[in-house]
Amino acid sequence: MTGNAIEINGLRKTYAGQKGTGPKEALKDIDLTIPQGSVFGLLGPNGAGKSTLINILAGLVVKTAGQVRIWGFDQDVNPRQSRAAIGVMPQELNLDPFFTPRAALEVQAGLYGVPKSQRRSDEILALVGLEDKAEAYARTLSGGMRRRLLLAKALVHSPHILVLDEPTAGVDIELRQMLWANVRKLNEQGMTIILTTHYLEEAEEMCDEIAIINNGEKVAQDSTANLLGRIDRKTMVIHPASAAETLPSGPGMTVTKRADGAIVITYRAADTPAEAVLDAVHAAGISIRDVKTAEADLEEVFLELTRSR
Ligand code: ADP
Ligand code: MG
Repeated sequence: MTGNAIEINGLRKTYAGQKGTGPKEALKDIDLTIPQGSVFGLLGPNGAGKSTLINILAGLVVKTAGQVRIWGFDQDVNPRQSRAAIGVMPQELNLDPFFTPRAALEVQAGLYGVPKSQRRSDEILALVGLEDKAEAYARTLSGGMRRRLLLAKALVHSPHILVLDEPTAGVDIELRQMLWANVRKLNEQGMTIILTTHYLEEAEEMCDEIAIINNGEKVAQDSTANLLGRIDRKTMVIHPASAAETLPSGPGMTVTKRADGAIVITYRAADTPAEAVLDAVHAAGISIRDVKTAEADLEEVFLELTRSR
């Protein structure tokens, strides 16, 4: 073993063109290594290629070119071992409506060749909080419960690596907290976790290391701390107590006024302390009713990262 859970070299995927469209290059020569034991974030906007990459790892999408090693096993040379090393919670809710959660787990365990004596269906159902629903038909489960069942299915063969594809897109706060608590617990027990998200904040909260992909290309990969350190652009939104006559100004600040009267100031934290921004606001004779800081949007983050390379 190399210490890497995943090693990807020169990975390409081109989807055949659908009606009226040409072929789509979803992944363009991606190199990616994911260390064992990490919580790794694959961050990128919709359409970046995250699910394509995940589905190639899962063996659900056939790559066009490149090499994929999972837990040291080349996907093309040792397909069975590489599949056994990974469990994937897909983005889509693809469940058989006629199976109960317990039956779904048993079938999944059968597919992975887990002997009856080693099955842990009840333990896994309890982990995801579905023990009360073990015998309910999947079609009677709520969206949140279906997601829990998808997580449970990904765990039946006790994989070394757990992959979650946009696990929190459209889920409520309670389910999100349950998911993150489980992710932390499984990671503490030694499981490598890979999750995709298009929320920078989510990657920041959960991940030790982040790779950013945009338009089928890897834009950056670094520890979360280093990566966020490179994203230096901050935005402050000032709501004045009364309509502002003059706009604040100062070195390194870009200032605009929104239709609702709020003043939006963008600045680089390395050059301009927040204190200086507030001083400029006071110097313009504005009294502050409220201040918010806004999340950098992903497009800006890409610009920032590609500029600083
Ligand atoms: P993400 O998960 O980051 O949102 P995807 O991997 O789902 O991105 O999609 C990447 C690109 O590939 C998108 O432009 C998408 O429209 C295209 N794509 C995904 N699946 C298919 C498919 N089965 N056939 C053709 N194009 C596809
Ligand atoms: Mg996706």
